[in-house]
Amino acid sequence: MHPSDLGLLIQARNPIIAIQTPDEPRAIKIVREFSEQLKLPFYEWSIVDGLRQTYPPIGGKAVIEPNKVIPALGHLRQTTMPALYLFKDLGAHCKDAQVVRLLRELYYSPDSRLWTLVMVDGGSLPPEVKRLTVPFEVGWPDEEELTDLVRETYRHIKRESLVEVQSKLTKREMEQLVQTLRGLTTEEARRIVAGAIHEDNILDSADLTRVIEAKRNRLGTMGCLEAIAVDVSPDDIGGLKNLKQWLNLRRGGFSARAREFGLDPPRGILLLGVQGCGKSLCAKVVASAWRMPLLRMDPGVLYQKFIGESEARLREALTQAESMSPVILWIDEIEKAFASAGAESADGGLSQRMFGTLLSWMQDHRQPIFLMATANNIGQLPPELMRKGRFDEIFFVDLPEKEDRESIFGIHLRKRRREKTTFEMQALVEASEGYSGAEIEQAVVSGMYAAFAEGAECQTEHILSAIRASQPLSVVLRERVETLRAWAKGRCVPAD
Ligand code: ATP
Repeated sequence: MHPSDLGLLIQARNPIIAIQTPDEPRAIKIVREFSEQLKLPFYEWSIVDGLRQTYPPIGGKAVIEPNKVIPALGHLRQTTMPALYLFKDLGAHCKDAQVVRLLRELYYSPDSRLWTLVMVDGGSLPPEVKRLTVPFEVGWPDEEELTDLVRETYRHIKRESLVEVQSKLTKREMEQLVQTLRGLTTEEARRIVAGAIHEDNILDSADLTRVIEAKRNRLGTMGCLEAIAVDVSPDDIGGLKNLKQWLNLRRGGFSARAREFGLDPPRGILLLGVQGCGKSLCAKVVASAWRMPLLRMDPGVLYQKFIGESEARLREALTQAESMSPVILWIDEIEKAFASAGAESADGGLSQRMFGTLLSWMQDHRQPIFLMATANNIGQLPPELMRKGRFDEIFFVDLPEKEDRESIFGIHLRKRRREKTTFEMQALVEASEGYSGAEIEQAVVSGMYAAFAEGAECQTEHILSAIRASQPLSVVLRERVETLRAWAKGRCVPAD
């Protein structure tokens, strides 16, 4: 929603508007600016500050003292003046029957034409209160707001600092900095920028890396979305030539030029396949090749024990991904997230509703987001997900063929500072038939350990022994792998 939509909600005489956001300062700013525009008196309430008129500012005593919820709400019932009221964390007081009753009275009151009550909460509201409200989404700060925020923070520190503070950011670097700050609340962004400036009293391109790191740490604690460090290149992945070609062809698909050319941006792919064959690695490689941040959604963390919370978290995660776009959104093992969505649900329809939310988002979102979903088990996938048009393409990632096994050996030996020319590749490739990329890597690691323990240089025999000592998953889970292959035939495009 655009901030100006708040005006529409107020003019439509909605008595109670609910803003659920982790960005309280931004919500307050939007409502306050609106009241200033309309020259409407603006009151703010919180349990610690009581009810105060903050626009036009009247210093001094609170209209209603702190620690008094009922009298503060009662003030609205008695007022005869048009005004805008903003209550912080009122949801937390809605366990009190008297508070709920008062809200209902206010909702039905004929005087609600005079005032509007805006509730700003970080958490969710009880359903009986939610029903009395219309929601308003403040969203995340956009680029313009973030640019102002960086400038203001810099100026503020420069003014207050006892030592010299400088900015050496070029226009392009400033744009990059702002892009990186997307998806954070105003306060988080301010702290991260301030931290980066304070470190060496200079705002320059070196701060970009710091900001990315700080943001990753910040998102790491957020739960559902994790910003993943992308430290791989396309050379780190062996085989999968069809998939690589497909991705290569679409790498400029999000650019303005592609749009002008008449192309729709790529929307996403589903990678179905045998475990350990590089599906997750692919998500990282795409992020690195396309120079886009990679966000992983952890479906396990989405599920909450309270009704409504899980859907709210999914929506919040999707909105946040949108606010950080262009991004690659990676949902690993998507089948686990929506396991019961296809079957008779044992969770009261929760995963079905969650799945519905995701499907409609996939269909409707307009932001440049590339969805990469991976799955190992088709049996658990709801069939709607596979319908044409949901994903641009469904790829099947099979066990690597001879040639690809050779290049995977080469990659993992090179990573450990060994040259493949010093090994008998033919023998390794033949012995590892039916092994996944992950299992080949494991054999290289085990072989290296065995050589190290002997105090010898790693040789073909060390790796061969490691291969012989383990059974690949394709043998242990033969039936599952064969079912998956049979299913994929004709339905999916081979990744290799
Ligand atoms: P899972 O379904 O178990 O998550 P996956 O298909 O996503 O497996 P990855 O997690 O990407 O597989 O693979 C694990 C590791 O195995 C990778 O980090 C990489 O080191 C190695 N690997 C797998 N496939 C390849 C490949 N094609 N080329 C190079 N390395 C590979």
